Amino acid sequence: MTSPVWHPFTQHGLHEPIPHVVRAEGALLHLADGGTLIDGISSWWVTTHGHCNPRIAAAIARQAATLDQLIFAGYTHAPAEEVARGLIAIAPRAPDQPTLSHVFYSDSGSTAVEVAIKMALGYWHNLGQPERHRILVLEHGYHGDTIGTMSMGERGVYNAAWTPLLFDVGTIPFPAPGAEQATLDALEAACALRPAAFIVEPLILGAGGMLIYPPHVLGEMAAICRRHGVLFIADEVMTGWGRTGTLFACEQAGVVPDIMAVAKGITGGALPLAATLATAAIFDAHCSTDRARLFYHSSSYTANAIACAAAAENLAIWQEEDVLGRIANLAQGIAARLDTLSRHPAFAHPRQLGTIAAIDLIAADAGYLSDLAPRLRAFFLERGLLLRPLGNTIYLLPPYCMDAGQLDRIFDALAEAGDFFGANA
Ligand SMILES: *Cc1c(COP(=O)(O)O)cnc(C)c1O
Repeated sequence: MTSPVWHPFTQHGLHEPIPHVVRAEGALLHLADGGTLIDGISSWWVTTHGHCNPRIAAAIARQAATLDQLIFAGYTHAPAEEVARGLIAIAPRAPDQPTLSHVFYSDSGSTAVEVAIKMALGYWHNLGQPERHRILVLEHGYHGDTIGTMSMGERGVYNAAWTPLLFDVGTIPFPAPGAEQATLDALEAACALRPAAFIVEPLILGAGGMLIYPPHVLGEMAAICRRHGVLFIADEVMTGWGRTGTLFACEQAGVVPDIMAVAKGITGGALPLAATLATAAIFDAHCSTDRARLFYHSSSYTANAIACAAAAENLAIWQEEDVLGRIANLAQGIAARLDTLSRHPAFAHPRQLGTIAAIDLIAADAGYLSDLAPRLRAFFLERGLLLRPLGNTIYLLPPYCMDAGQLDRIFDALAEAGDFFGANA
C-alpha cells in the first residue's frame, strides 16, 4: 500500500527508500526492519544532547499531565516565564551594548525569523519612520521556507516557483577569505541608505553550504550597523545551543544583536519551540497605552506549555552538566579525523566550527540538482549512517553524545565515499 504522507524536500517520483524509524536513543536511530542508523546530522540540526534524553522526556511527561496548552495572548504559565528568564540570563552580552531583555515565543526557526523581521519593521513604523523597511541579507543565507524567510534567503531552484511573491532585499556579498573588506564596504554603502535591518547567520551559513567566516568580520558588520542605527538581527537558529563551540555564536565576536532568533536546539530537539529575543528599545517601541502599537503576531501554539517545559529542562541541563566540555571533546575528535580525511585526494576545503565539520567532494557533476547528493545519501544509508550532503558538500553535525566508535564509522564511510565517487578516484 502506498503511503499518503507527502514528505518535505522529497521527490516522491524517484521512489527513493524512506526508512521507517521506530525508536531513538542517543545518536542512534532504530529502524522497523531491525537495523540501526547513526544520526550524523542531529535529525536536521535539532538534537543537541542526544535523542530521547531522559531528563527532557521526564519533564515533558510531567508537564503533559499538569498543563498542556494555554492561550498566550493575555495569559501566562510557569514554564514560559522560567524559560524567558533563563534565555535572558544566558543571552550574549557585552560591555557598552544594550542587553537582550524580552522574549517572544513561536514554534519554528522560520517563524522566529518572521517575528524578528516584523519586530524590526514594527520598531521603525512606531517610531514614525515607516519608510525604513528594507532588509539587508548576506549572500548564500538561509532563514527558512516561509514566503518572508525565503525572500531573505538565497534564490534558486528551491524557491523559483514563488519568486513573484518574494520581496526585494539588499544582498551583501559573503565575506569569503580575502574578500572581507568588500563585504564591509558593501554593508557600509547599503547602511547609508537607511534600511530597517541587516540579518545574518553568525559565523557560519548552514544551508548555504556550511560557509564559515571569522568572528572579527561578524563584529565589524555589527559595528557598522550600530554606527548607522540599522538593526542587527542574528539568526542563531542553527548556531545556537553550543553548535559552534560556544552557547551562541555571537559570543565569539562580543556581539549583542538587537534581535536574536533561536529555535532548533532550544528543547534539546524534542519538541518544536522558538524564541525571538529583543532589546528594550525594540520592546519599548511597541509598548504604549495605544492598542494600535501592540505587536500583532500570534500562532495557536505560542509558548506551548509542554514545549516550554522541555526547554526549561534543556536550560537546566546546560546549567548543571558540563555540556561545553562534551562539545569541546567532540570537536577535538572531529578535528583529528577531519585532518586525516583532508589528505584524501577526492576532498577539498575541509572546515570546522565547533561540532560542525564540512568537506567538499571533488566530483565531476556537483550542482544542486545533480544526483550526487542523493547517491551519496543512499551510499551512507547502506552503511548505517544518516547523512544528508548539500550538493557536493558533505557535512557532519552530530548530537553531543556521539562516541569515538560512531565517529570512526562515519569517517571511514566518508573516506570510502571519496574512493567511490571522487573525480580523481
Ligand atoms: C533551520 C533554519 C531556519 C528555519 O528553521 P525551521 O525550524 O526549519 O523553520 C532558519 N534559519 C536558520 C539559520 C536555519 O538553519
